[in-house]
Amino acid sequence: MSFFKKSEDSEQQSTITDLRIKVADAQMPAGVEKIAEQELEMLTKINPATAEYSIGLTYIDYLVTLPWNKKTEDNLDLSRAERLLHENHYGLEKVKERILEHLAVKVMRLNRKPLILVVDDEEIARKNLEHVLSKEHYEVVTAADGADALRKLEAHEFDVVITDLKMASLDGMELLEKVGERYPDIKVIVVTGFASISSAIEAVKKGAFDYIAKPFKLDEVRNAVSKALEKKAVVKNTKGSVLCFSGPPGTGKTSVGRAVAQALGRKFTRIALGGMKDEADIRGHRRTYVGAKPGRIIEELHRLETTNPVIMLDELDKLGHDVKGDPASALLEVLDPEQNQAFVDHYLDVPFDLSSVMFIVTANLLDTIHAPLRDRMEVIEFSGYTQEEKAQIATRFLVPKQIREKGLSTNRVNFTPEAVQKIIQEYTREAGIRSLERKIATICRKIAKEALQGEVDNEVSVTPEQVEHFLGKRKYHFEVIEEQDRIGVTTGLVWTGAGGDIIFVEAARMKGDKELIITGSLGEVMRESVQAALSYVRSSAASFGIDENFFERQDIHIHVPGGAIQKDGPSAGITIAVALLSLLTKRPARRDVAMTGEITLTGRILPVGGIREKVLAAKRAKVAVIIMPAKNRVDVEELSEEITRDITIKLVDTVAEAAEAVLR
Ligand code: ADP
Repeated sequence: MSFFKKSEDSEQQSTITDLRIKVADAQMPAGVEKIAEQELEMLTKINPATAEYSIGLTYIDYLVTLPWNKKTEDNLDLSRAERLLHENHYGLEKVKERILEHLAVKVMRLNRKPLILVVDDEEIARKNLEHVLSKEHYEVVTAADGADALRKLEAHEFDVVITDLKMASLDGMELLEKVGERYPDIKVIVVTGFASISSAIEAVKKGAFDYIAKPFKLDEVRNAVSKALEKKAVVKNTKGSVLCFSGPPGTGKTSVGRAVAQALGRKFTRIALGGMKDEADIRGHRRTYVGAKPGRIIEELHRLETTNPVIMLDELDKLGHDVKGDPASALLEVLDPEQNQAFVDHYLDVPFDLSSVMFIVTANLLDTIHAPLRDRMEVIEFSGYTQEEKAQIATRFLVPKQIREKGLSTNRVNFTPEAVQKIIQEYTREAGIRSLERKIATICRKIAKEALQGEVDNEVSVTPEQVEHFLGKRKYHFEVIEEQDRIGVTTGLVWTGAGGDIIFVEAARMKGDKELIITGSLGEVMRESVQAALSYVRSSAASFGIDENFFERQDIHIHVPGGAIQKDGPSAGITIAVALLSLLTKRPARRDVAMTGEITLTGRILPVGGIREKVLAAKRAKVAVIIMPAKNRVDVEELSEEITRDITIKLVDTVAEAAEAVLR
């Protein structure tokens, strides 16, 4: 028994000694290292057979393997970044431009030499400081007194001012006050003779960042300046430092994010936020049980072994919350440069600096995102692709990629332009190109299989017939032009997280008791639009030649079929009103005219969002005319010629105008 005890003891000893060495080598911040040492000390006193011991061991082992000080070197070559973005992505001109601007600012910030103003009335002292600081790769400007300093402050954008206190015209204390008023971002360090330390302390009370007593050691100056600069960098980085890519699925958000990481030479990872409900997913679990884990952010840094990867936080708009706390508030901390320098994961229980991580958030729609979160982000919008863009992307990128991935040879397999068009039009209906890529993958897989079985020649040209052979009968029909105009059925345009889409609003009436029936799983706002539309039609029945008592002894039923589409928002108002007018005037509604617009009780049309996505959806569905609020004129004018080609956009101010255009 005693023998066992001994060997266990020594095993525990050697494990702990091992960890001690690792703790010393891990380059942790001093505070963290101390905590790790204390934990280790505690472990020496705990029975190794207990859960507590193994929790402690795992914890320290995790701490020492975190990348406290490991970074990949940034590649700040902008033209290379530009080339990479262009090489891997077709179109997306605005997106690329915005990203390059963002990177340029980053590069400038990293490359710019901090500018320091040295103020002293003794020339020797000025020269000394100038010499020391220039050696540290700072840019230095000098001034002989406070008044001179103020002139120079107006001309340049300084980061730090180092000033003597005693000067002839406008002394250091006055200068400090003036800088505080006019340039609150600039950090002031005061230098003072040994005799007047008390006045230096007074200066700090008045807002000076630090003070240095003469005669000073070089290290003191260096430290004070670098600390001041660090503080300043944080303040500067706060706004818009997080990129947010918003847009429908399959529009290249992930792919562009990857390219950004590649351009910077950083590692890349994604964290899916969709459906995340528990705060612990972000912030980790306390180490109270075996198997407790850190949150996803720390886990990813641990896995990637670097503190400066690009982390893509996917689908911020689908973030949930429940009783276990709100992951959004934890995220707020992660994304806020003022707080994320000392992010505390519950498992780690010590601060970890996240400020080197480049976060890119993605979202399909922005309106469900908490305002405080949205404020921290620089939003870059991705939008759906036109048919032509899809064809280009397919031919240039998706087809070659799939051919390669399925082990085929680009020399032997090709897709004709007609085949690509057919896949886009008849087998997919989406804003992005996700299912397009999947369909192309399916065809390539089948070609590979048939080639192996000797069923096809080695050389395959995929034609429209082949597409049908591989993918089966067409999946989508043009419900708009392939069906007849009907009474009480109108075509509308909606905007959802998946991009734009079309809906049909059906209105029917029957004998009854003045009841308004609404079906089709409509959201609250859309149900209100139905009520508003009915009230408008009732109140202006006469002007449309409708019997004013039409609602007496009748029920009206509004139905919006299409289970898969999210149906909410005010923009269907116009479509519902015109459906009712069609029903009550017995005039068939043109199916190939699609509408969007919010209505007021007096029949005026208010502007709506998602214009570009809606126009693209209308074109996918082969709509001929789109009716939109006149107040959306600016949005329509912003659309490129390629988008507005082959479609008529009619701007209207009132329901009556819309009805004239739609009803036969
Ligand atoms: P998202 O993240 O927006 O859902 P992805 O980045 O996953 O979209 O894009 C889906 C696929 O389409 C990827 O294979 C991507 O490389 C490709 N893709 C998207 N946009 C483009 C583009 N403009 N040029 C080339 N390929 C693209």
